[in-house]
Amino acid sequence: MHKFFSKYGKAVLISLIALASAVLLIAAVFMLINYSDDISVRATAEAQKRTLKAKSHVYEKLTENTSGAISLAILLSDCDDEVEAYGVISDALQKSEFSEVRFVRYFSGDVLYSENGAEYTGTDSSREHRGATPNEPGYTGVFNDEIYNMSVAGFYAPVTGSSFVDAVVVYYPRNKLSSFYSADAVTADADFSVLALDNEKTEILAGGEDLPSFSLKDSLRTMTGEVDGVNEALKLIHGGEDGTVKVTIDTAEYVVSVCADKTKLKDLSLAELYRIDNLCAVDFDIVDTIIMIMILFAMVTVLIIVYLIVRRVRREKEFFNMQTSDVKLQCLNRRGFEELASEILARNNVTTSFYVISMHLKHYKHIKDSFGEAEISRLLFHLKTAIAKIIGIEETFGHCVDGDFVLLLHAKDRDGLIARLKTLSYLAHQYKSAHKFDIILKYGIFERVQSEDLTIQQAIDFAYEANDAISQATAQDANMQFNFYSSELSNIRLLNEDMELRMEGALKNGEFQIFYQPKYNLRVGRQDGCEALVRWYDAKTGKFNAPALFLRLFETNGFIVKLDKYVYKKVCEYISYTIAHGGTVYPVSVNVSRITAVQPDFVEYYYNTKRKYGISDGLIMIEFTESFAYEDYATLRKIVDGLHRRGFKCSIDDFGCGYSSYRILKSLPMDEIKLDKFFLERSDSESRDDAIFSSIIQLAKNLGMKVTQEGVETKEDLERLIALGCDTVQGYYYSYPLPLSDYIIFVANSNKHNIT
Ligand code: C2E
Ligand code: CA
Ligand code: CA
Repeated sequence: MHKFFSKYGKAVLISLIALASAVLLIAAVFMLINYSDDISVRATAEAQKRTLKAKSHVYEKLTENTSGAISLAILLSDCDDEVEAYGVISDALQKSEFSEVRFVRYFSGDVLYSENGAEYTGTDSSREHRGATPNEPGYTGVFNDEIYNMSVAGFYAPVTGSSFVDAVVVYYPRNKLSSFYSADAVTADADFSVLALDNEKTEILAGGEDLPSFSLKDSLRTMTGEVDGVNEALKLIHGGEDGTVKVTIDTAEYVVSVCADKTKLKDLSLAELYRIDNLCAVDFDIVDTIIMIMILFAMVTVLIIVYLIVRRVRREKEFFNMQTSDVKLQCLNRRGFEELASEILARNNVTTSFYVISMHLKHYKHIKDSFGEAEISRLLFHLKTAIAKIIGIEETFGHCVDGDFVLLLHAKDRDGLIARLKTLSYLAHQYKSAHKFDIILKYGIFERVQSEDLTIQQAIDFAYEANDAISQATAQDANMQFNFYSSELSNIRLLNEDMELRMEGALKNGEFQIFYQPKYNLRVGRQDGCEALVRWYDAKTGKFNAPALFLRLFETNGFIVKLDKYVYKKVCEYISYTIAHGGTVYPVSVNVSRITAVQPDFVEYYYNTKRKYGISDGLIMIEFTESFAYEDYATLRKIVDGLHRRGFKCSIDDFGCGYSSYRILKSLPMDEIKLDKFFLERSDSESRDDAIFSSIIQLAKNLGMKVTQEGVETKEDLERLIALGCDTVQGYYYSYPLPLSDYIIFVANSNKHNIT
C-alpha cells in the first residue's frame, strides 16, 4: 500500500476517493429517485384504494335505499290494472317508511306510468335502467323531473306476479343522496372528499364543506391552481372511469383520486384529494434518513478531500522554505530540485525520455564583477523566468549556485530536447540591459535511461560532467552549447578520481617534472627565453603526461595552486643553481592558473620565493591566460601591477581566443602577448588574415609589448611571421619542450640553433 502511494502519489489517492464518492453519491441519488418514484406510485394506489372504499360505501347506501322500491314492488305484485296500482301506491306513501319519497312511477311493458295511471313520456333516467337490466333492482340516477320540476334520484325494482305492473320506480329528492355519503367515515386522511354529480358543473352533492364553490371543477381549480391536472381528473369523471391525477400545490405533491362508475353510480362520482407525504409518512421518514446519511457521507468525504488537499499544498509549500528554495530567485534550490525531481521520476517510472540538464551561464563572475550585483540578480531572475516558461507538467528546475541551474525535462528524443533548449536560449537572449555582454548558456545533458538505477544526485553530477566537458575552444562563439553525457565521460570521471587519489603523493615523489621549451628571437636570430611546461611522469607507461590530462581536474579541486607553486619553485631552483655554477640563463616564462593568481598571498609568495633564490628582476615572466583577463579584468590588473613592482614580467597567453582582445591590449600593461596557434591557420583570404595579423602585431608593438607566436611548426609559418614583424617564436620548428637535462645542453649550444 505504502509502495503504491509513493509510486503514484497522493494525487491518485485523492482522485480515487473523489471518484468513489461521486459514484456512490450518483448511485444513491438514483436509488432515491427510484425510491421516491416508487413512493408516489404507492401513494397514488393508496389514494385510489381509499376512494374505492368510499365508493363501495356509497354503493351500499344506494343498495340499502333500493329497499323502498323493492318493498313497494312486493305490494304491487297483486295489481292487475292502473286503479289497483294507484290504490297500493297511495296507501304505501301514507306509511312512514315512504315518508321521504316524492313520487312513484311504474312500468307496464316499456310504457312508464305515473302513479295516477297516466302514461308519462317525459325525461326519466329509469327508462335506461329498464332497457339495460330490467330484472335488477337499483339506483337509476339523478335527473330533473319536468312534471314536478325538481331534482330527484330514482330507485328501480322489478315487480313479479302482477299481470299489469312490471317494475316500479321510487323517487327521492336529490339531497337524500347526501346522507349516503359520510366523508368522515371513509376518508379521514383526505384533504377533501366529495360526492359529486357529473353534470355541467360537476356539482358537489356531499362532503367538502369548506370548498370554495359547490362546483367540483371550480373548487379544484381554485385550490390547486392547476388547469391541466383538474381537466384530466374531470375527464376521468365524465368518462365514468376510476383513476388518479397528480397535481402540485405550493411545491407539495398531491393526488386527485376519482371514482365514477357509470353503471352503478350513474352520474355520481367521488373525488378526493390526498397529499402524498401524508399517505406515505413512514416511507418519507426513511427517505429523510437516507438523505441525512448521504449528506453526512458527502460531508465526511469532502472533509477528507479538503484535508488531503491542504496537506498536499502544505507539502508543496514546504519545498519553498529556506532549505529547499532559492529565496532570491523564488525557485527551488539544488536540494529542492533533488527532492521534487526524484518524486517526479518515481511516479513516472515508465517514461524513459527524461533528461537532467545542467545549465550554466558562462562568465557569471565576470558579469557580476564588471556590472554589479543588481545586474547579475536581474539577469538570473530573467533566466529563471525563461526556464519557468518552458517547464511543463511533471518537469521542474532549480538554481544551484552562481548561474548554475538544473532542469528536469522530458522530450520525445534528443532533437526534441535540443529544440526546447533552443527555445530557452532564445528566451534568455531577450534580456535587455544597458551593459554590453553576451549571454552564453552551456547545457550538459544527462539522458536518463529507465534501466539505470541512478539517484537524482548522480544524474545531476553526470549532467555537470557533460557541461564541464564542453570544450573551451569550440565554446567561444556559439550562444548556446550543449553536450550529452556519455560513458566516455564516465571513464574520464574514473580517471579523474584515480588522479585525485594520487596527486598529493605524486607531488612528494617528484612525479611532476618541468620541461622547458626555448623561444627564438627573430630580430637577433637566437634564443631569448623559454617556457616552463609541467609534465606528470607515469611510471607504469614510462611516459610524460601533458597538462591537458590533469589541469582541468586540478583547477576544479584547487590542487593547481600547489602545483603552480611547485613548478615555480623548481624553475627558481634551476635558475639559481645555473647562475651559481656560471651557466647561461634565459628568462623563463611560468604559467599561472587563474585559481593560483587570485590567492591572497600570490604576489607575496612568488616574490618571496624569487628573493629567497636570489633571482634578479626580469628573469621570470608570468603567463596569464586571456580568458582570465576577460573574465576578471580588474583583479588581473591589480595582480599585474603588483608583479611589476616586484620585478616580474607579465605575459598574456593564448591571445586572440577570446573576443575583447582589443580591450586587454589597451588596458592591461603587459610585457608580452603570446598569439594563439590559431593565428597561423589560413582561411580563404590570406590577404585578410595577414592584414588582421599585422595590425595586431603593430598595435601591440606600439603599446610597447613584445609579440610572441606560439605553435610555430613550419618554415612557411616562420617566414610569414618574419614578414609581419613578429618578435619571437616558440614551437616545434625551433624546439620541442625539453626535460631539464636536455634543455641545459640546448642552451649551451643555442648559438648553433639558428633557424632564420
Ligand atoms: P600554453 O601555455 O599555451 O603552452 C603551449 C602549449 O603548446 C604546450 O602544451 C606546448 O607543448 C604546446 N606546443 C609548443 N610548441 C607547439 C607546436 O609547435 N605545435 C603545437 N601543436 N603545440 C605546441 P602543453 O605543454 O601540453 O601545455 C598545455 C597547456 O597547459 C599550456 O598551454 C598551459 O596553459 C598549461 N600549462 C602547462 N604547464 C603549466 C603549469 O605549470 N601551470 C599551469 N597553470 N598551466 C600550465
Ligand atoms: Ca603558456
Ligand atoms: Ca598558449
